[in-house]
Amino acid sequence: MKKPVSFYPGPSRIYSKVPKFIKTAYENGILSMNHRSPGFSELLQDNDRVLKEKLNIPKDYKIFYVSSATECWEIIAQSITAKTGSYHIFNGAFGERWFNYSRSITENATALEFNDQDQLNVTNISPGESTICITQNETSNGSQIKPETLKKIRSVFSKNLIAVDATSSMAGLFLDFNNADLWFASVQKCFGLPSGLALLICSPKAIKRCMEITERDHYNSLIFIEENMKKWQTTHTPNILGIYLLNQVMHSRKNIEKVDKQLTIRSLAWTKFLDASEVMEFYIKNPAIRSETVITLKANQNFIKRIKENALEEGFILGNGYGELAKSTIRIANFPAIKKSEIKSLREFLTLWM
Ligand SMILES: *Cc1c(COP(=O)(O)O)cnc(C)c1O
Repeated sequence: MKKPVSFYPGPSRIYSKVPKFIKTAYENGILSMNHRSPGFSELLQDNDRVLKEKLNIPKDYKIFYVSSATECWEIIAQSITAKTGSYHIFNGAFGERWFNYSRSITENATALEFNDQDQLNVTNISPGESTICITQNETSNGSQIKPETLKKIRSVFSKNLIAVDATSSMAGLFLDFNNADLWFASVQKCFGLPSGLALLICSPKAIKRCMEITERDHYNSLIFIEENMKKWQTTHTPNILGIYLLNQVMHSRKNIEKVDKQLTIRSLAWTKFLDASEVMEFYIKNPAIRSETVITLKANQNFIKRIKENALEEGFILGNGYGELAKSTIRIANFPAIKKSEIKSLREFLTLWM
């Protein structure tokens, strides 16, 4: 049997060029490179340029490399919000986990939970001085907070810091980085890369706050990360292979506006296709708040079990539901690394299950 195509929303399909890049990294000695060497610093500088160019990240934002989105939850709590507080807005399992991580680090964490079928109502938000924490694309239920809403939150709460978990949308959707101060994502979702690396992207305002707080109690205190990156270095030996693969993949990619446009077209085609189903329905009823990158479908449990098993026999991995939705939903990634021909084959399979 051929290797199945993974439509799991993370880890997901990785770019077909990745094996070639791994080979080059080995052959060019990149994997044995010292992380304090000029060669590695150059790689970080080049990454900074290519990420800013391809993802439209403002020039004065800082890009840091960490191990996971989960680590970002902890870094933000330790180095920023432990003193000043965090205000978590969520409607699903990932946003709730972030809130729980923050709470275990500081008592200074509060939450606004909203119904996953509802549009987030900005007038309900009352963060005080706390950092507003938002999960832009809730991978567990397939909902998203739209760019217009983020923009509105930014303008209403212009004094607050805003942190955004964009793990399953960064490098897939166009994000206006000016609308928040701390953005993060791990690379096993829309970046189409192997897991074990995440980006934490900070505005000048976030860096300033970090400098005022000067929390230095952890190996991954943000201030250490920032001090090292000023010299194009990292606090510890990082995932050099991951950073190199990120560099190569970003060089081979189009600008995010083009990627976003293509994903939106694909998302609309998925919607049209799935709306015709009599047995599966979108878990998120309102198309205006539905994720474009993670499709979450509801059906009866027996059907869910059978379709996943059958899909695997036919060479497709469908994503399990997440958390409370584990047995009642399936998830299908709409990530950029998935090929048009693979989507076509999956649809042919699904046609028999409509
Ligand atoms: C996948 C995911 C995470 C967790 O990512 P890790 O890299 O495993 O820490 C966090 N938040 C969201 C929204 C995710 O989709």
